[in-house]
Amino acid sequence: MSQPLSRTLGIVVLVVLVTQPFQGSVRAAAEADRMTYAQAKARIPQRQLPDFWVGDVKGLAARFETLARGTARVAAISPGGRAIHLISYGEKEQVEGKANFNSAIGGRLPSAYMDKGARKKPVVFFVGPVHGHEVEALTGLVNLIEIMETGKDLRGRDQSHLRALGSQCRLLIVPAGNPDGTARFEPRSLQGMEQNDLRFWGQGTWSDDALCGWPHVKRQHPLVGDNVGFLGCYFNDAGINPMHDEFFAPMGPEAPAILKIAREEGPDLAVSLHSHEPSPALLRPAYLPKAVQQDVRTLAERYYAMLDQHNLPHNSPPQVRAEDQEMPSAFNLTSALYHSSGATSFTFECPHGIKGNCEVTHEQILDMQLILYEAMLQHELDKKR
Ligand SMILES: [Zn+2]
Repeated sequence: MSQPLSRTLGIVVLVVLVTQPFQGSVRAAAEADRMTYAQAKARIPQRQLPDFWVGDVKGLAARFETLARGTARVAAISPGGRAIHLISYGEKEQVEGKANFNSAIGGRLPSAYMDKGARKKPVVFFVGPVHGHEVEALTGLVNLIEIMETGKDLRGRDQSHLRALGSQCRLLIVPAGNPDGTARFEPRSLQGMEQNDLRFWGQGTWSDDALCGWPHVKRQHPLVGDNVGFLGCYFNDAGINPMHDEFFAPMGPEAPAILKIAREEGPDLAVSLHSHEPSPALLRPAYLPKAVQQDVRTLAERYYAMLDQHNLPHNSPPQVRAEDQEMPSAFNLTSALYHSSGATSFTFECPHGIKGNCEVTHEQILDMQLILYEAMLQHELDKKR
């Protein structure tokens, strides 16, 4: 079957005329989803970050060596050779325990794992950013350590109330849960930057400079190989995202070190501290009993009421529900924390202060962190009374 040449030419001209503007807009969209390392670096604002801001792992070891009240130890070494520190406050209370957590539950006696009720002080575990660029919590936790040492935050502001609450608990603090990722995070803060900056530094790029983006970035793990461009700060230097390690056959050292602390200490409450674009949110922990999910919801209600008093934004409290969605939730580090230690565990998401989406200041970010810690400590102290 052949057509007259003139008719064929006519169709070709028409197709070119119709598709050219369309292809132009497709190309523009593709360009917007692409960023080279040089472009990403050039987009970092030239600015002095506040003195109270901690966006780097440099200097942490020296800071922790000089603690007067707290105890510091190295819990693990990352694939990049960086220390993962555990800072603790308050004596560890020795209580009875003969079984690991899931065997104790199988034996229908949670206290067979650890008689938490016999402890005088609540044990609260703060897991700092396992996603390296989410340094809002690194700032928060280093400020919490400063408060426990001196009664003041790094702004010099009196925080004796928070320190008094902390002194009535045993605090376990891992300030940097993924130091390799944080070391790779050159902006040191995403506050006032744009969504694509978050995508570049957080999830990274493929080898053609296309932004990986969420959730596609989770579909290759470990994230290694020829198709990987800039390795995002989600990952340690071996391409492992500790939030999604293989908990029964670990791929990286960070998640196992965090879970070992949980197993040995049996915290009452544990948080994995993250950041995202929208307002502060406590997320529903997946694969936890509804009573434990309800405990997280109650804590969220308390925290959000405190944020209201400070005129700070927040999300709505998480729903309590079974794992019955068509696309089930992932069993992640937060789920594993509960199943290793019986702790009420949850993920907290703090805003980065991205332009145009919950654009909060560095000051407000630190306030959101410290108010969360206060709500958590009060929540557990109330149960002991
Ligand atoms: Zn995260």
